[in-house]
Amino acid sequence: MDGLEKISKDPRVRLRRNGEPDFAGSCVVYWMQRSQRALDNPALETAVAAANELKKPLVVFLGVVPFFSHANLRHYAFLAQGIAETARRLQQRNIGFVLRAWPHHNLIKFCDEVRACMVVGDENPMREPEHWRQVAGERLSVPLWTVDADVIVPTQLLLREQYAARTIRPRIHNWLDDFLRPVCNASARTQWRQPKNLMSLDPEADFLSEFKMDRSVSPVSTFRGGTAKALKALKHFLGERLKGYSVRRNHPDLDGTSQLSPYLHFGQIGPHTIALAVKDADAPPEDKKAFLEELIVRRELAINFVRYNPDYDRLSSAEPWAQTTLAAHRKDERTHLYKAGQLENAATHDPLWNAAQKQMVQSGWMHGYMRMYWAKKILEWSRSPEDAFNTAVQLNDRYELDGRDPNGYAGIAWAIGGKHDRAWGPERPVYGKIRYMSLNSTLRKFDSKAYIAKVSSLLGELSPPRN
Ligand code: FAD
Repeated sequence: MDGLEKISKDPRVRLRRNGEPDFAGSCVVYWMQRSQRALDNPALETAVAAANELKKPLVVFLGVVPFFSHANLRHYAFLAQGIAETARRLQQRNIGFVLRAWPHHNLIKFCDEVRACMVVGDENPMREPEHWRQVAGERLSVPLWTVDADVIVPTQLLLREQYAARTIRPRIHNWLDDFLRPVCNASARTQWRQPKNLMSLDPEADFLSEFKMDRSVSPVSTFRGGTAKALKALKHFLGERLKGYSVRRNHPDLDGTSQLSPYLHFGQIGPHTIALAVKDADAPPEDKKAFLEELIVRRELAINFVRYNPDYDRLSSAEPWAQTTLAAHRKDERTHLYKAGQLENAATHDPLWNAAQKQMVQSGWMHGYMRMYWAKKILEWSRSPEDAFNTAVQLNDRYELDGRDPNGYAGIAWAIGGKHDRAWGPERPVYGKIRYMSLNSTLRKFDSKAYIAKVSSLLGELSPPRN
């Protein structure tokens, strides 16, 4: 087996277009899409290894498009905040970086211009980006490999949709020793020298001002994008919040979680960096275990769901028992019925729900415990479960910085469609056997007044969203 073949046998690698590289080409191209980082990125490591094996330079290509589903100025601003730092970190490893924006974002054209020997990309289980990868595999004339860089256990090893956390957990735990390992962050041995006339935007410049995108939702001041910011948030979490996480994570009134989800969504930090740091941290075992359960088991269950269930953003993704029970209660009288616009404006009778909605709209992030309550109430107050699912997806994707993510679709499918859950009794109006959450029992779980006050004081510091 030659060196390149050996690299391709890594279980993270998927050969989208097989064959011999163009040995006369000038470089290896790393097509950066989901894993937007230079640190601890297994897809980039594979590209470095391939480039070094071929004795060619490596260049990273990032083509930004304005038509990514449900993405708006809030999301693009966060993405753009991470780019210059990634370019600098790549340069330190001898790797080139070319940034282009629509209508110059075409990967195939770029590969022709530089005469790529082969292309290595990352993986993204979502429908649209998966389609881009399939099309690239058909249109490129050189090999295309994609590497599952944003999970600990490669998604393709699971083979099919997993029924629940209890079915995926033992499989993931069995593989942890093989895959939860430090990423080596090697440098390219041959330096990339940018051809004089090659078009590339300045990663330090503001390319968004000219970008024709949905500008209806403002960027937030609560989170700033980039790997350095993600590492800072991780350090803060390890120092201040990991101890006690297993209890405090269920308290929206406290700042007890990592708030790393926006960085994970944009790939500005990867799960290896976080999981290894938590594993090595000086913290009680129950807190580390609770956190790694969320970061690895729950997150990778969500990714598995999106990869293997083509209906992941619709109620039809639910199991038959859930579809049956929701259908049986379709005509139940709703105690309150709200239109999507009323929900969007946080204009319900429920101050706790309104606070959660405002937290999301204004700060770009809602506490995880409140996300469950938020989605369950949308089911209770919508005309049909399908309407509820659609409204939850629309709002979540539009306002959450971490929206448009497998975790969001799995979370909504869990709350509204009983996904990864079981049937619960007693049967209730509207919900049927879907797990119910009442306002009164939720109020007893944490200091809801403190949460509502916290959101109000946060809103006082933020400017209203532009919509
Ligand atoms: P922490 O508690 O610090 O957890 C660390 C990481 O583990 C998170 O960043 C996340 O990547 C992962 N994680 C935590 N909880 C879950 C979970 N239940 N399922 C899967 N992964 C998890 N997460 C998103 O990233 N984007 C979304 O759009 C999103 N929408 C959701 C909608 C609903 C209705 C529900 C019930 C959950 C949703 N989640 C979503 C999952 C979860 O609520 C968030 O990931 C978490 O609250 C983010 O905060 P954190 O980073 O402080 O989490």
